[in-house]
Amino acid sequence: MERRLEGKVAVITGGASGIGEATVKLFVRHGARVIVADLQDEKGKALCASLGSDDVASYVHCDVRCESDVKRAVDTAISLFGKLDIMFNNAGIGDPFGSSILGEDDTAAVFERVMGVNVLGALLGTKHAGRAMVAAGRGGSIIITASMVSVVGGLGPPVYVCSKHAVVGLARSAAAELGKHGVRVNCVSPSMVATPQTMSNMQASEEELEALGEVISTLKGVRLKAEDMANAALFLASDESRFVSGHNLMVDGASSVTKIF
Ligand code: NAD
Repeated sequence: MERRLEGKVAVITGGASGIGEATVKLFVRHGARVIVADLQDEKGKALCASLGSDDVASYVHCDVRCESDVKRAVDTAISLFGKLDIMFNNAGIGDPFGSSILGEDDTAAVFERVMGVNVLGALLGTKHAGRAMVAAGRGGSIIITASMVSVVGGLGPPVYVCSKHAVVGLARSAAAELGKHGVRVNCVSPSMVATPQTMSNMQASEEELEALGEVISTLKGVRLKAEDMANAALFLASDESRFVSGHNLMVDGASSVTKIF
């Protein structure tokens, strides 16, 4: 197999589970060394151990809302592996209480919780990775996990939808600012992937969520998996996408651009 990230170093936030976990595994298979940054210490450490020695993947406890944690994750990549080429700002949370604009009782708390992880977390990751990449002068690739709901309303709780629209603006702003340093910034946007988060938030099984994903897609006979998102991130992380920046790569079977119901 051609190793498309040979010699590259990545930080993946939310790397202990779901889309992040699948991406950690794929990036390592393609020759990258990876820092797994997450809150789930046991899961993150077990994942790294399963991939071999500390020379390949290493776990760092990191709450993406905390600037010193994010900085430490980036610094660890540099101290352990010598540099940073790829930052995957993937950590994110949904709104398990299914907020609505009219129905939400504690709007400010929901806003702070969801925007804190999804937007501030991605902003801090972009800032510290961007600083390291600019200082090193070798360019880099920053990727943010947005969502199908980054471009449509009505398919998720409003604050979550706001947060995913916001990270597309963040990617575009960062692409504009960092482009002169050779740093590319893009989003990947899944529709419905069965992960621990979605199964818990929607109280549904993997089979039920995958079936729902197929219903909302005009592309039939294919079910979106975490591995598909990892492949999309792989393209944006690799040099194959060297002229792609400021882009929001929809991985949604055309759900966001066709009438689905
Ligand atoms: P997941 O729960 O399996 O993985 C998310 C990971 O992020 C977990 O390991 C969790 O511990 C970590 N995390 C949460 N808060 C954190 C914080 N403050 N600091 C550091 N790590 C934190 O869920 P997933 O579905 O793989 O989600 C990954 C990303 O994909 C999220 O940004 C999510 O919004 C986005 N997304 C998922 C779907 C889907 O259908 N699964 C659809 C659209 C977008």
